Amino acid sequence: MSVIELRQQFLNYFASKGHTIVSSSPLVPGNDPTLLFTNAGMVQFKDTFLGLEKRDYKRAVTCQRCVRAGGKHNDLENVGYTARHHTFFEMLGNFSFGDYFKREAIQFAWEFLTKELGLPPEKLWVTVYEEDREAEDIWLKEMKVDPTRFSRCGKHSNFWMMGDTGPCGPCSEIFYDHGEGIFGGPPGSPDEDGDRYIEIWNLVFMQFNRDTSGALTPLPHPSVDTGMGLERLAAVLQHVHSNYEIDLFQSLLKAVGTVANRVDYENSSLRVIADHIRACAFLIVDGVIPSNEGRGYVLRRIIRRAVRHGYKLGLHEPFFYRLVPALDTEMGAAYPELRKATDLVGRLLKQEEERFAETLSHGMVLLNEAMQHLNGKTIIAGDVVFKLYDTYGFPTDLTADVAREHELSIDMEGFERCMTEQRTRAREAGHFKVDLSNVALTADCQSVFIGYNSVAGDSTITALFFEG
Ligand code: ATP
Ligand code: MG
Ligand code: MG
Ligand code: MG
Repeated sequence: MSVIELRQQFLNYFASKGHTIVSSSPLVPGNDPTLLFTNAGMVQFKDTFLGLEKRDYKRAVTCQRCVRAGGKHNDLENVGYTARHHTFFEMLGNFSFGDYFKREAIQFAWEFLTKELGLPPEKLWVTVYEEDREAEDIWLKEMKVDPTRFSRCGKHSNFWMMGDTGPCGPCSEIFYDHGEGIFGGPPGSPDEDGDRYIEIWNLVFMQFNRDTSGALTPLPHPSVDTGMGLERLAAVLQHVHSNYEIDLFQSLLKAVGTVANRVDYENSSLRVIADHIRACAFLIVDGVIPSNEGRGYVLRRIIRRAVRHGYKLGLHEPFFYRLVPALDTEMGAAYPELRKATDLVGRLLKQEEERFAETLSHGMVLLNEAMQHLNGKTIIAGDVVFKLYDTYGFPTDLTADVAREHELSIDMEGFERCMTEQRTRAREAGHFKVDLSNVALTADCQSVFIGYNSVAGDSTITALFFEG
């Protein structure tokens, strides 16, 4: 079953159960400064859960585009290293706003997986929040789930929160066992982070709103928010283990292979590039522009990471923008907003690639030399990381990514000290009133630094510069 068919089947199933099909909202959450990007299907319904907004339906179903590359849910560092994480992915979800609760949510999910899609129950594994006896009883006594493939887990995995504040509640998750020979233990075991048991669906029983002090107040109506990764489910149905082996990614990888002149689609740089083109293209579609701060800096970091992986594959000319037509072929029908914006996306990506190309190769020389002169140490010094950032436009996560490939890490504390020193110097020089609108796009030290300084009062945005 193709990704396109699967997406539709999910929407149809829940429509047949009285759910209104609602379109994906943009990646930049409207009017929600607490969130960097839309990271789950529930984001567009946040105010409905809180009782602040009324909708003319009580059940909804969506296929929501999501980005997890910053903020509370950040998978940037996982991409290229696990079979299941993307920066951009599509989340299938059904929602109840004060309508049905745990019982129906569990029944729908189990029926969809085991009847509609025909997945064998013995390949599935279910978890509940350890204090949620109600959900446990529904699974074990009513759904007759095998207790040997069932675990009770703690807050860390089974109490879902959108961010540090907002709607939240206990959750119940469904995993698929991809079988022996793959590293990883069942959920709740010490090896749960492996890729054998892959989490496919999270059923969140929305019950509370969390405020800035961490206090939980009950929502006006208990509600349901579920989220299932379309790519992970497609992998299960296409009998492949990795998300990168599904039809959609195979087509994107083919396009990357064509520009890179290679066919080893399991190569992690190829995969990172195939992942990143989706995030970058859709972020631009949704109005984000590469810049040195906030959301724009996250986009810039992802583009530069992709370009660096291309460089590693021997691509020294702009190539990333050439993947846009292939992405449009795969996703343009489901997302008309992408189809309309392909020219703009291509132009912005090419511009950003050209800008970084000027410094990338010099920065790589510096970094390679630094790595060769570590004398047995395994940490790249902060001043090197800073110089790469400041002079060559290397985001720290990009440097960390190269370091990790060599089983090294970077000294972030040392880097931050250099940043502070630089800031003090510039303040003393009285340069802090330079107009940012143009200079922010260059990689020279003064403008990069001042970009940082100008947002230093905003802890969320400041943190972005140190992430990674
Ligand atoms: P994981 O533990 O694998 O990181 P998660 O618990 O962080 O996943 P949830 O926040 O519960 O994920 O999101 C709901 C669903 O969205 C997951 O069950 C999974 O199918 C999918 N999903 C989450 N993160 C990603 C990602 N980075 N790439 C692809 N799919 C994802
Ligand atoms: Mg996660
Ligand atoms: Mg999880
Ligand atoms: Mg989860």
